[in-house]
Amino acid sequence: MAGRILVVDDVATNRIVMKVKLAAACYAVEQAENGADAIRAARESRPDLILLDVMMPDMNGLDVCRALKRDPATADIPIVLITALTDTDAKMDGLEAGADDFLTKPVEEVTLLARVRSLLRARDTVRELEMRDDTVSAMGFAEAATGFTAKQKPGRIALVAPGPRGAVLWKTAINDRLDAEVRIIPREAALAEATATGHAAPDVFVISVDLAQRNEGLRLLSDLRSRPGTRHAASIMILPEGDSERAAIALDLGASDVLHDPFDAKELAIRIGVQLDRKRQSDRMRAGVRAGLEAAVTDPLTGLHNRRYALHRMEQMLAQPRPSLAVMMIDLDHFKSVNDRHGHGAGDAVLCEVANRLRAQLRGGDLLARMGGEEFLVALPGCDADHATECAERLRRAVADRPFNMGPTDGERHVTASIGLVLPHDPPGALSPEGLIDRADRALYHAKDQGRDQVRQATEPASAA
Ligand code: GH3
Ligand code: MG
Ligand code: MG
Repeated sequence: MAGRILVVDDVATNRIVMKVKLAAACYAVEQAENGADAIRAARESRPDLILLDVMMPDMNGLDVCRALKRDPATADIPIVLITALTDTDAKMDGLEAGADDFLTKPVEEVTLLARVRSLLRARDTVRELEMRDDTVSAMGFAEAATGFTAKQKPGRIALVAPGPRGAVLWKTAINDRLDAEVRIIPREAALAEATATGHAAPDVFVISVDLAQRNEGLRLLSDLRSRPGTRHAASIMILPEGDSERAAIALDLGASDVLHDPFDAKELAIRIGVQLDRKRQSDRMRAGVRAGLEAAVTDPLTGLHNRRYALHRMEQMLAQPRPSLAVMMIDLDHFKSVNDRHGHGAGDAVLCEVANRLRAQLRGGDLLARMGGEEFLVALPGCDADHATECAERLRRAVADRPFNMGPTDGERHVTASIGLVLPHDPPGALSPEGLIDRADRALYHAKDQGRDQVRQATEPASAA
């Protein structure tokens, strides 16, 4: 994975040492020697990551960090602060200034490179989601983004520690500082979360690298990363002091962050808070993309599937080994006069009610779509001729038999539909979705011609169409 990294340090030798390490791992390195230069370079070249020295004469690293995080153009570039300080307060200030991590000089190469890989990977995921989100919006389905201003639910945090004592300490550390539901769970329960369905999995796992056995936390981490239920959860791995080798492994296995014991309670809380924010942001984008895709295949008025989806779904039905597919086109009769007489809004309400009545007559695997205007399509997979004929008649009656309520002043009105039916055909798969729809359409015109409010079957043999 290549990436562009901006190295900011007032001492030339430090920049060169860093550059050599990063270039050896195939990263492209840019340099800046003071805060003002760093901010300018970040805005102009938008690097993938910034390694930022804290102690610089003109403007210290924390101020640079704050400035970059405040500017929307650079706010999402990950920043790693680098310093000789071991002072925890300075560290906390850095994390609170929006830095993603804090490395102490001399920077160990394994730690540095693992951290860089992990941050670049997280950034790629966000970019990918942003791109999908943009695509969905560009396609005109931006309504997807609504509904997210609702009050945030408290985050769900799961702590997996070797013994109860440690976990209780962690829990106390978090409790007063975060709005979160914190649970202490054994390793087995964490794995169960990964496969459970129907309830929300934790947003963040905090896992000790060693559980009952050495490295068991690492194994749990990769399990969680590979299961659908917990794949998108963030994870923070807790390691013994100085264990940089396993910290690097944890990051490469997909840990979102690592922290060395003994740590400051406040630091754990800050790091969890950062992960929680990121998780929420990517959950939101994922939901937006999903809703957008949903909108792309749904008719907004009736909530039925639209034409695009119907064609795709029929393709799939026809690709079955022995497809036996009956198809109907349903068109409301003299619908224009419903609009003319009662208004377009009342017409819309009738369309919705028709959609509901049709839906109520069909089975789970059947396809019902609004093809446009007052035209609906039904496809019945795995169905024989008798059943199809009977179903078509039932659908016609579902519309015609009961009047529609046209509102307080207009009373009730009868509406009817004409239906063109194509029986399950032989040889199987001889027709495309378009071919079947075309045949159903011709049968429909026939039904209109014969006086409406009736079902007509396509007459020509399937192979001739
Ligand atoms: P026929 O029996 O021959 O099908 O007559 P018709 O009036 O139903 O057919 P025509 O195709 O002439 O007109 C269809 C009408 O459906 C015209 C249009 O105003 C109405 N329509 C189409 N889409 C909508 C919609 O989304 N909402 C409403 N309210 N009316 C719609
Ligand atoms: Mg019509
Ligand atoms: Mg029509």
